[in-house]
Amino acid sequence: MTRKESFEQLRLDNVGRRFGGQDALQDLDLTIRAGEFIALLGPSGCGKSTALNCLAGLLPLTSGSIWQDDKRIDTLPPERRGFGMVFQNYALFPHMTVRSNVAFGLQMRRLPKAEIAERTAAAIRLVQLEEHVGKLPGQLSGGQQQRVAIARAIVLEPSLVLMDEPLSNLDAKLRLEMRTEIRRIHQSLGLTTVYVTHDQEEALSMADRLVVLRSGQVQQIGTPEELHTRPANWHVAGFMGFRNLLELDATRADGGGVVVEGHGLRLTGAPASGVSAGEPVVVGVRPEDIVVQPRDSGAASARDAAGNEVPATVEVVEYHGREFAVEARTRSGLAFHVKTPERVAPGNEVTLVIPAERLLVFPRGDERPPA
Ligand code: ATP
Repeated sequence: MTRKESFEQLRLDNVGRRFGGQDALQDLDLTIRAGEFIALLGPSGCGKSTALNCLAGLLPLTSGSIWQDDKRIDTLPPERRGFGMVFQNYALFPHMTVRSNVAFGLQMRRLPKAEIAERTAAAIRLVQLEEHVGKLPGQLSGGQQQRVAIARAIVLEPSLVLMDEPLSNLDAKLRLEMRTEIRRIHQSLGLTTVYVTHDQEEALSMADRLVVLRSGQVQQIGTPEELHTRPANWHVAGFMGFRNLLELDATRADGGGVVVEGHGLRLTGAPASGVSAGEPVVVGVRPEDIVVQPRDSGAASARDAAGNEVPATVEVVEYHGREFAVEARTRSGLAFHVKTPERVAPGNEVTLVIPAERLLVFPRGDERPPA
């Protein structure tokens, strides 16, 4: 199976959608290059599906425009955009076999019989359902049904495939398998894919670039690595796995770094843009970036050059395979979540060492992070 190259880039220009005076999506600027895998990521209600439906033509825009190279397409009906769609509820025809479900779109286009047979077989091979061609959807597992839905979309050789939470009805193990599967299909066909999910891990593991949305507004667009190492604000940081988001005050902020204080702590973090001394900030650190040092072990402790050492008492320990998920509390009552290979037990006195370059500092803004 091959896919015809039908555009070099797709550009969303200031795209917005309102529902009864409420903005569901605002000022979305995004250029999608042919062959890219883009994930739209964000919590429930942030506008992901709205963005996807605007792109698909299922929802008219209330502002902005969409361009396929030099051609404006937001005025075209969905069927004239040539995009494929895969939804979370599969939407298969229950009374039709796998083969007929996949062939349906080609039959509607009145293609020659031989071509329909050949393209249907190729799509079914690609999603590895050859053994199940004669079955009805009800005789398939959830993962197999989702493969049929994918085959049905790609058999039409769409210039863009839009997927809205396609894995959310599957169990955890199948979800992991299908992630790899979808990425494999994307690569082997050279597809361009826009994929909606609220699952940060799914987005990071599948996408070339992520668009993080919150309340209809783009928070950041970047590669998984960019978002992971340099989240633009504490909302994105929270989404990227920074579980320790603490409200402190910046007491120094310059090119050398930021010093933050509060709750009995004084920590130094990486230089931060938009942060000035005297302002309330949110600091973020990932559980896996904190080093746990037993305090009564007598072992030489790893001193932190920046002096980011926080005495704490272990309260909760969960065993997670090779590491422990630990919750430790400072004397002033702050809880830190830590992932460590160190064997500790509730009640242990420890020192939490936070490398300065791993402590990110953000302006607090109008909202407060969850406690
Ligand atoms: P989820 O992950 O829960 O599907 P989402 O990020 O896809 O959420 P959207 O479905 O895009 O979010 O919704 C964005 C906002 O627009 C929400 O506040 C939602 O209530 C609102 N909204 C969406 N569709 C409509 C509609 N047809 N009429 C009115 N409001 C709508």
